[in-house]
Amino acid sequence: MKVRNPRTGEADYEFTPVDSQGVAAAAKRLRRHQPEWAAMPLAERSAILLRWADAIEKHAGAIIGQLTIDTGRAGIAAIEVGGVPGTIRRWAEQAPEIIARHSPSEIQSANPTVINSTRLVPFALFGAIAPWNFPMTLSTIDAIPALFAGCAALIKPSEITPRFVEPLRASIAEVPELAKVLEIVVGDATTGEALVANVDYVCFTGSVATGRKVAVAAAEAFIPANLELGGKDPMIIMASADPVEAARTALRASILATGQACQSIERLYVARPIYDKFLETLVNEAEKVRLNYPDIHQGEIGPFIFAPQGQKIAEQITEAKEKGARILAGGTVEILGGGTYLRPTVIADVTPDMAIVRDESFGPVLPVIPFDDVEDAIAQANDTIYGLSAAVLAGSTEEAEAVGTRLEAGAISINDGSMTAMVWDAENSSFKMSGMGPSRMGESGLTRFFRKQALIRQTTSPARIQDFAEENFAGDGRP
Ligand code: NAD
Repeated sequence: MKVRNPRTGEADYEFTPVDSQGVAAAAKRLRRHQPEWAAMPLAERSAILLRWADAIEKHAGAIIGQLTIDTGRAGIAAIEVGGVPGTIRRWAEQAPEIIARHSPSEIQSANPTVINSTRLVPFALFGAIAPWNFPMTLSTIDAIPALFAGCAALIKPSEITPRFVEPLRASIAEVPELAKVLEIVVGDATTGEALVANVDYVCFTGSVATGRKVAVAAAEAFIPANLELGGKDPMIIMASADPVEAARTALRASILATGQACQSIERLYVARPIYDKFLETLVNEAEKVRLNYPDIHQGEIGPFIFAPQGQKIAEQITEAKEKGARILAGGTVEILGGGTYLRPTVIADVTPDMAIVRDESFGPVLPVIPFDDVEDAIAQANDTIYGLSAAVLAGSTEEAEAVGTRLEAGAISINDGSMTAMVWDAENSSFKMSGMGPSRMGESGLTRFFRKQALIRQTTSPARIQDFAEENFAGDGRP
């Protein structure tokens, strides 16, 4: 497969996708070694994973270099690679206490002669399927706690951004015990389908359309599918908020990473009394934002990693204009040096029927909608198939929370926006079509990879069949 460079538009990288037999062979290798991995004391698994954290840091330069080409941005590539050792170390600290708390050894049952205990039994083979927007983070975020739990892990990154895999593999190879239970397979949908068919638990991060296919395939394979899908996150800005601060926060929460983040703010509902000031500031601030072109080390906005995304947004903008929307900043998809770019695009006079308000954009677009009645803003914010996250800005925490708890989404940023990009310890479920299954954040990020095995200890003579004889029961069925 040929891979396009997002900054030049040229296909300058090639790889051979792993076919279904290759995936099955990898799964077989991993399954062979998983029992030994799971049987190790947690401290030993942890020590091995911590050596991997060190190895990633040793190879960080090479991984960042390739991830920079994959994504067309340098700073976020460094943050992504730097974050993975941090994630490993955080789980190393937290896992012992979480696992101990979830596996009590002596609990008196309600049945007086019985003592219960809970054993945590990991799924044998975990599989991750990742998208292209944060290739390193989203390939590893679930696999790390799965490995701590004692699963073996098979990862399939996106075929759009596969370059970072080779140097990442080099870091895994430095830790031979880990290399037996962690493999990465590259490829597209075919490789992803084979992964689902070969693992015992799949975490899929990507679009709703593909998520549905993965859910169906997982149902056929009778395995849990943990889905982290798209969003159309709203932000409600109350009249008590500072319009200037609010505009700056909204801009960052919307356009960071060129808006190519599931938790990007994509709809802004602004209270009428501050609407004009908010909009004026937003336009001014949006116009100050620079592309990271031609110098990748300058500016705030990179190219679209996946060029067709730019085309999709161009169509949304055209449709909005045709239906009467006004573009106040940005609005034109530009081709520069072969890369596809869009400056922060502020759009007013939008209506709920426009694709730019209804569908996920996954780019730096900010449709702004005034409201007179907060009930109307809440109703519009909730009028979506998505429920990933949302945000409320107000003059006080209490006011923002009172609105936030009315929103149908799994994570609500209070007096900030898109906080799930930075806060990883708040458990949250994806509502509606934004996903399914336990939270990847917080302690369920680890506990979801265990099945609970109950050890039910009888401390007296077990019951005999005669104890259940009909004559032992009264006519009404009671003993
Ligand atoms: P995508 O759904 O096109 O692809 C995601 C992955 O699925 C890729 O690795 C792809 O090869 C694989 N795939 C494709 N068809 C498959 C199949 N039939 N079976 C198994 N695997 C298959 O998503 P994308 O375009 O790469 O990513 C963008 C989407 O991801 C956006 O919708 C975004 O909101 C979402 N996303 C969600 C989160 C989250 O945490 N909720 C985070 C990041 C991105």
